[in-house]
Amino acid sequence: MRAMVVEVEGRHAILLGRDAFYPAPIAFTLAHEIGHAALGHIGNNKTLVDIGDSSFGSEDQEEQEADRYGLELLTGSAEPVITTNIDNFSARGLAEACLEAGPSRGIEPGTLALCTGYVRDDWVVANAALRHVYSERKPVWQEINAMAAGELNWGNLSDESIEYLGSVMGNDG
Ligand SMILES: [Zn+2]
Repeated sequence: MRAMVVEVEGRHAILLGRDAFYPAPIAFTLAHEIGHAALGHIGNNKTLVDIGDSSFGSEDQEEQEADRYGLELLTGSAEPVITTNIDNFSARGLAEACLEAGPSRGIEPGTLALCTGYVRDDWVVANAALRHVYSERKPVWQEINAMAAGELNWGNLSDESIEYLGSVMGNDG
């Protein structure tokens, strides 16, 4: 499972089922799931599950809508126009270009690298560029779950729920 969105009484929760060593790939998944929630793809007390790899290129209309929503959320455009001044980027060259071009356009550099990979259909270089975009390689889930734990109203949960969530989120103890 890549991710799951649940809706309960008008509120949504997104469960991420994949991890990465850099934030950008997870940002894509999260933005896509936010799209499903915002676009009303999940009925009350229902669950939507995304299985497998990124759905880019999917024929399914709701998947395409969620992709477009996610792209707009991350880049400001559902169809970002990305042009490059050279044809063959090295991973380092792409990273440097994204570090330079991203911030002034309000786009996180790793996200821009992945968008470039999408536009150029070159995921190998785009993914390799991430190692040059970010200063360190670490499991993204730890920060996400620490953030999620800070948002939860633990005082309203039963002991059983606290134990379960602590175990699932890997931050018990
Ligand atoms: Zn989806």
